Amino acid sequence: MATTHPDMTPSLELNDVTKRFRLASGGTVTAVDGVSITIPRGEFVCVIGPSGHGKSTLMNLVAGFITPDEGVISAHGEPVTGPGPDRGMLFQADTLFNWMKVRRNVEFGLRARGLPKSERKRIVDNLLHAVGLTEYGDAWPKQLSGGMRRRAAIAAVFANEPEVLLMDEPFTGLDFARRNVIYGVLLDLWRRVNNTVLCITHDLDEALTIATRVIVVVRGRVALDEPLDMPYPRTPEMLAAPELVDLRVRVLDHLENAVGDTVGSAR
Ligand code: ADP
Ligand code: MG
Repeated sequence: MATTHPDMTPSLELNDVTKRFRLASGGTVTAVDGVSITIPRGEFVCVIGPSGHGKSTLMNLVAGFITPDEGVISAHGEPVTGPGPDRGMLFQADTLFNWMKVRRNVEFGLRARGLPKSERKRIVDNLLHAVGLTEYGDAWPKQLSGGMRRRAAIAAVFANEPEVLLMDEPFTGLDFARRNVIYGVLLDLWRRVNNTVLCITHDLDEALTIATRVIVVVRGRVALDEPLDMPYPRTPEMLAAPELVDLRVRVLDHLENAVGDTVGSAR
C-alpha cells in the first residue's frame, strides 16, 4: 500500500501459498498447503517440522527457485518472481569454491557487485573477524574444519548484505560445540545487520536457541506459529525455563502426531 511506511513493509509475506508436485505414479502431492505467513523485518524465524512435510519446498518458493500453484509470495512488498540477491541462501552442503582461498570466497559477491578493492578489503576483514577466521583468509577451504567452512560460508552470504537470509538445515552434521559457536556468530551478524532470517531446522533446541519466532509445519500447513521473546545468549538454564517447557510440549505434540505421515499420505 502506498500509505505504508517502507520500514513497515514485511520482509516476507506468504499469502495462501500452495505448491503441488506431480508424482511418477500419476497422483499429486500437496507439499505446501495454503500457507500464510507475514514476517516483519528483523525477525529470526525458525521453521521446524518432520522430514517430508514441505519445509524445503517452502524455502524454495521463498527463494524463487520454484513458483507456487496458488497464492502470492512477496519480499519487501515486491512479488517474488525468481531468485534475487535480496534473498541470500545458505545451503546445507558447503558452497565454498574450493579453488578460491577463503578471502576470495567471502569477496566473491562484492567483486560481482563491482565494489572497489579497498572497500572489499574492509568488508571482508570485518566479516572474517566476525566469524573468527581472521587467521584463515589465505587458507584454502579444504584446510578448514567443517565448522570453520560453515562460518566462512556464513561470511560469504552476509557479504552480499541480503535483506533476507534463507537457510535450509544449515547446521546438520556439525557437533554441538561447533554449532554453538556458529549460533553466536550468526546471531551477532544478524543483530548488527538487522536483516530477516528464515531458517529450517528439525532440531527444536536449535530453534529455541536462536529464533525470535518458531513456526511448526506439518503436512504442508502451519500447525503452530509462536513468538519467542527471550534475550540472547540463551543459556541451558533459560532453555529449561517453565515458559519454554509449555511451548516445547506443544511443538513436540505436533511433531509426534505427524510421525509416519508425509504430505502425500496425509490426503
Ligand atoms: P521437507 O523439507 O520437510 O523434508 P520437502 O519440502 O522436501 O519436505 O518435501 C515435501 C513433499 O514434497 C515430499 O513428499 C516430497 O517428496 C515432495 N517433493 C518435494 N520436491 C519435489 C519435487 N521436485 N518433485 C516431486 N515431489 C517433490
Ligand atoms: Mg528439507
